[in-house]
Amino acid sequence: MSVHNFNSGPSILPKTVMEEASRAIIDFNGTGLSVLEIGHRTPLFQDVLQEAIGSVKKLMELDDAYEVLFLHGGATTQFMQVPMNLLDNNETAAYCDNGIWGKKAAKEASLFGNVNVVADTSDRSHTYIKKDFAVPADAKYLHITTNNTVEGTQWHQYPEVAVPLIGDMSSDIFSRPADFKKFSLIYAGAQKNMGAAGVNMVVVKKDILGTIKRSIPTIMDYRKHIEAGSLMNTPPVFAVYVSMLTLRWIIAEGGLKEMEQRSNAKSALLYNTIDSLPVFTSRIAKEDRSQTNAVFFLSDPQLEAPFLDLCKKEGMVGVKGYRTIGGVRVSMYNALPISSVQAFCDLMKEFATKNG
Ligand code: PMP
Repeated sequence: MSVHNFNSGPSILPKTVMEEASRAIIDFNGTGLSVLEIGHRTPLFQDVLQEAIGSVKKLMELDDAYEVLFLHGGATTQFMQVPMNLLDNNETAAYCDNGIWGKKAAKEASLFGNVNVVADTSDRSHTYIKKDFAVPADAKYLHITTNNTVEGTQWHQYPEVAVPLIGDMSSDIFSRPADFKKFSLIYAGAQKNMGAAGVNMVVVKKDILGTIKRSIPTIMDYRKHIEAGSLMNTPPVFAVYVSMLTLRWIIAEGGLKEMEQRSNAKSALLYNTIDSLPVFTSRIAKEDRSQTNAVFFLSDPQLEAPFLDLCKKEGMVGVKGYRTIGGVRVSMYNALPISSVQAFCDLMKEFATKNG
């Protein structure tokens, strides 16, 4: 049976990346060493890290005002590391609470300073993106989650604000071109569009650093990581290596424009199918629908379990909605072929015919 991987994260990666990574576990670039056994300060790993950093800069069209870091942890680490580096106890940071991840980010920030939730979409169960909100001029920064992995909404146009903008891009990183220079800091856990879990990519504009009085533990200090070139201590070598391979793949396939075209085609196919079949229903405001994580429901909740059973039987992996939301969630990351979305839509139609 062929398997279609719609996991929300860790999630599907390009097959060629996994083949090359598998070979490198046995023999890295003909060195007779596994990628798991190379020292992180050797030229072998230096090349990997420099290619990864260079690829991020190229794809995001960043200038020298920005640094790219590969740091330990998941995006959750950044929920804490961002305010620890940027927010003093007596200062206020603005946060958009568009769902579970934004709320968690705001909660962590409140350990370091004041948090002003300037947009909260819980009034409509986080089914839309609130765009008309004001950010106080003295806010240290505004934090947004560019794609809400759990709720299925996405910012299709980033907010224009006078304060530094910070984006958690964990679930739509490298899925489309954008003016990334609008952001002062971008972070993403690697486990979705980028590579293996265990490493974060952080893009930071140097001018926002060094503006607080707090002492920062060395391993948490962005400036110390910049000085050390992401090599303050042993980085997650394999996770960085897989990210480098995936970034190489994105560039070879045509870059962010191509990723966006594929994403447009996949998400249009799925959303058109949902909208055409009364058995299924989407609660998300149309203009805010996520291109990477489509969240929808069975119009008759009694049909949810039989539909999910059918998906399981037919090799549709990872389509059960998040545990607090229920329903169906179909994640369509860069490496997912449109043929998988087509197979899923065919199954939806078959189910609708039998249960309509
Ligand atoms: N932010 C977003 C948008 C996410 O999707 C996730 C994970 N799904 C996280 C943060 C948390 O990431 P991690 O589990 O890697 O800490």
